[in-house]
Amino acid sequence: MSSHSSAQDLEHYVGGKLSTEDSSLVQTHLDGCEQCQHRLAEIALQVRWKDTERRNEPRVPVNFTGRLKLLDPVTSVGPPHDVKVIEISRNGLRVRTPRYLIPKSLIQIRFGGKGMLGEVRYCVKTESEYYAGIKQVQDFPSS
Ligand SMILES: [Zn+2]
Repeated sequence: MSSHSSAQDLEHYVGGKLSTEDSSLVQTHLDGCEQCQHRLAEIALQVRWKDTERRNEPRVPVNFTGRLKLLDPVTSVGPPHDVKVIEISRNGLRVRTPRYLIPKSLIQIRFGGKGMLGEVRYCVKTESEYYAGIKQVQDFPSS
């Protein structure tokens, strides 16, 4: 595998600013490189806060494992569990999870040594598991 994608390429990739050719190069590399998927997730989530005016919401398919922990003491039962992160957007993440996540609950997802705080937007059941949308929150909402 060639060298890792540059941060700038990843940022442009998330923003849909790369040419089709460059974009598919990055995609090909991402397919085989979990490390760059982690970096891509970080970049996508950081850009969100720098650039809140932008309307377009690119969605980037990824495939890596994160560790999800429920932070709400009322709804959190059981230890952290593994989820598959399947999509990144500026809004947050989409995950596949073996457990139902109650909408509006606060969660933390850890991957690649970093953590992200999020709020569950929705959770839908498929045949064998659930799909959940996680919206990144910069900090805990004040109650
Ligand atoms: Zn890489």
